[in-house]
Amino acid sequence: MNYKQQVKAMQPALIEDIKALCAIDSVYDAATVADNAPFGAGCRKALDAMLALGAKDGYTTHDVDGYAGDIEVGGSEEGICILGHLDVVPVQENEWITPPFTPTIRDGKLYARGTSDDKGPLLAAYYAAKLFHRNYPDCSKKIRIIFGCNEERGSSCVKHYFEKMPACEMGFTPDADFPVIYGEKGTCGIVIGGKYAPGTVLEIHGGTVANIVPQRCEAILAGTSPAYREALDAYLQKRTDVTAELEAADTDTRIVMHGQAAHASTPHLGVNAIAAMCEFLSTVCDSPLTALVADKLMAHDGAQLGIEKVGQLGALTMNLGILHYDGEQAQITLDLRIPHEIDAPAMAEQVRAQVKAYGADLNYSHGRALIIDMDSKLIRVLDEAYREEEPDGEGPQAIGGGTYAKAATNCAAFGPSFPGEDTHIHDSNEFIDLANLERATAIFYRAIEKLML
Ligand SMILES: [Zn+2]
Repeated sequence: MNYKQQVKAMQPALIEDIKALCAIDSVYDAATVADNAPFGAGCRKALDAMLALGAKDGYTTHDVDGYAGDIEVGGSEEGICILGHLDVVPVQENEWITPPFTPTIRDGKLYARGTSDDKGPLLAAYYAAKLFHRNYPDCSKKIRIIFGCNEERGSSCVKHYFEKMPACEMGFTPDADFPVIYGEKGTCGIVIGGKYAPGTVLEIHGGTVANIVPQRCEAILAGTSPAYREALDAYLQKRTDVTAELEAADTDTRIVMHGQAAHASTPHLGVNAIAAMCEFLSTVCDSPLTALVADKLMAHDGAQLGIEKVGQLGALTMNLGILHYDGEQAQITLDLRIPHEIDAPAMAEQVRAQVKAYGADLNYSHGRALIIDMDSKLIRVLDEAYREEEPDGEGPQAIGGGTYAKAATNCAAFGPSFPGEDTHIHDSNEFIDLANLERATAIFYRAIEKLML
């Protein structure tokens, strides 16, 4: 059998393992954080399941304090690392066509949270590593399959892992797209806070995590004026990309705005429900809070703040991820992906000066950009492995950033999504296409062969 036939023969077992792992709800859960479970019980359970797979296959495994783990496939010398993650982002259960934690195959696609991001690709890479070990049992080097439990909330998992375990000499992380990613933008998280007395607007709540374009935003308005309905109808005439519901109670009115989720690094693929809500609200009231959003935070290229920029790695993007206003305190969370030419602290100060005019202030944190030499063995080899499957495919690319590649050394993000493929990562109805899963597994296998031999 050639390697493609071998990969095909492994698919049924791979799919079963993906289903079992995706049946575990491994969203971060502060309520169940405990010793050896720093991200909650669900992440702990997924880590145990992954470690059990490695042990069942006869490999050495490590549990690094519940932050992350690894499976060592093959020989004893350091070879390559492959990094994936076991945590997933929250779900909006009612928007799924199949239950998010009951993996279901429909029309050649496996639906469940984590199928594409990132349990499916992690297991595909693990299967590719096992196949390499079977085909080259005498190879003296090992493949370390590393899995973290906190990728979606800042990757403290792999930082902790590399504090305790050997550094990565060379490797990849199948947690993004093909072709291979040589560059990732820098990141900047901004949290804007301010106190606002309740007026027409009593409360606003939208978004769950910073790195998803929010698909739902709810607001409570004082009173039950028919003008609210008229204004909303007029707004929906202009904005056909959102939908909304209005419900009048005894003394107040509740409005829910629906947009479209997407990953924060590609905000143009989503429709931001918080931005739309505030744009609408600023037509019925003059609150400095909704004005701040409508005047400064609507544009996902940062143009309203004057921070737009296109660099070598692409354009600055900004996601207005979360807004909570409880009638007193407002908090707005922004997720920016910034070209490496931008000085993040200077940019944050530029934003601060503008939000102050609306009675707010901000805190921020930022992370570096990543650029790997295009002529390095790593990028060259991963590019070759991809082009064997996709001869007409594009060359190495740059993305919005924020993969494990930044937390490891000499590591590039590589797969599993193919160009133009939208697998609803971080959105409802996430899936992995089973034909593409097989192609990705074959590419990972070839990449391992080329890096290891
Ligand atoms: Zn991911």
